[in-house]
Amino acid sequence: MLIVDHKHCTGCGSCIEACPQLAVVKIRDKYKFIYPSFDSELCSSCGRCAEVCPIDKPLEPRTPDFAAVYYAAKARQKGELVDSHSGGIFPLLAKSVISGGGVAYGCAFDENRHPRHIRAASLHELEPLRGVKPVQSDTDGVYASVKDDAESGKTVLFSGTPCQCDGLRGYLGRDYENLLVVDVLCGGVTSEGVFNRYVNWLEHKLGGKISDIRFENKRAFGHSRSMRVIYRRKKFRYLLSFPSELDMLCSMSSGGYINRRSCGSCKYASPVRVGDISLGRFENIRRAHPNFPYDNGVSLVIVSSNKGMEFFSRIAGQIYLEPSDFDRASANRLLTSPTPQSKNRGALLTDIYRSGFAKAAEGYGRLGFLTSAAVFIKNVIPDKAVILFDRAARKVKSIVCGLFSNFNLGK
Ligand code: SF4
Ligand code: SF4
Ligand code: SF4
Repeated sequence: MLIVDHKHCTGCGSCIEACPQLAVVKIRDKYKFIYPSFDSELCSSCGRCAEVCPIDKPLEPRTPDFAAVYYAAKARQKGELVDSHSGGIFPLLAKSVISGGGVAYGCAFDENRHPRHIRAASLHELEPLRGVKPVQSDTDGVYASVKDDAESGKTVLFSGTPCQCDGLRGYLGRDYENLLVVDVLCGGVTSEGVFNRYVNWLEHKLGGKISDIRFENKRAFGHSRSMRVIYRRKKFRYLLSFPSELDMLCSMSSGGYINRRSCGSCKYASPVRVGDISLGRFENIRRAHPNFPYDNGVSLVIVSSNKGMEFFSRIAGQIYLEPSDFDRASANRLLTSPTPQSKNRGALLTDIYRSGFAKAAEGYGRLGFLTSAAVFIKNVIPDKAVILFDRAARKVKSIVCGLFSNFNLGK
């Protein structure tokens, strides 16, 4: 039994969580993408799974009488901005919810680098939720937990891919005034299996153990797309930074080679949003908003409901903000079209699993070479050197600021 074709199923997990007979379980296909599996012996034909599944339902505006509002926005505080994705808006929203006694849900890697949705009730627990993850997370038990929190009266922020946000909405079946849904402009996700093979391949190339991998390094590349990998080789820790264009996983994903099948025809690549607030990268910011400070990233923020606007206004004092519009925002193509699926997707994924990531990367051609080059270019900076450089920069800054403040006092 299938309620939607595998081609369209997003693996949101809503049907798995909603089945009262526990007749739907999570399985993984040969490429380790998550799918539901239905046990017809346990099924009572209640129809709940089809009711919660969002796939065949039309995408409708959050609030029909609310016209979406677009902004270019970024955190004012540099530390907040540099360690977060794009303009650092998500952590500010989540912090404002948590500081008021609420909870935030989002994707994090656990200690085994397993991507899963977690619940953060403190600022410390919020840390792993920062940053983008190009891999599909497990939502096991999360929708029920969101429901419990929302019904207990807590303020809840749920963040995820639009398909996960829609899965949550289907599962809940109603809106809650105290639930803020934040979706991301999503270009597709790969599976945990592909991601782990990629990390192992990178570790092999680097000859060390990766302790942290982030899909953005603003300290080195500012607003440009970039990667940051921290790894240990023998006694030393190293930091490797390079542009995303040279990264094998990012290249394969943006070429539609390793994403989930549903991502190639994703209905959520649309100006009609599932979230009360949608967050993405503001592309072409220098042309769209020439006077906006673009260094270290700028977010595209789309507010699609009164509730979203109310939550967004809570962080207004902490951000730079400039009203925008659909025309300028749509430079981010994920607002209008999904990442097309490559016709070689199956072949490349099969290669990754049969012959290993190294072999697949080799076959992938030019980009494979460039990635290797990026790794071996002496862009490898020992971590200690970065820390020393940071300290020196702060020292120089404090001297310069001191000079200016003395000067001011003198006047
Ligand atoms: S029809 Fe009802 S019992 Fe059967 S799989 Fe769906 S939710 Fe479960
Ligand atoms: S509810 Fe989600 S996981 Fe279940 S069939 Fe629909 S899209 Fe797939
Ligand atoms: S591209 Fe669409 S289907 Fe794929 S993860 Fe993103 S929202 Fe879900």
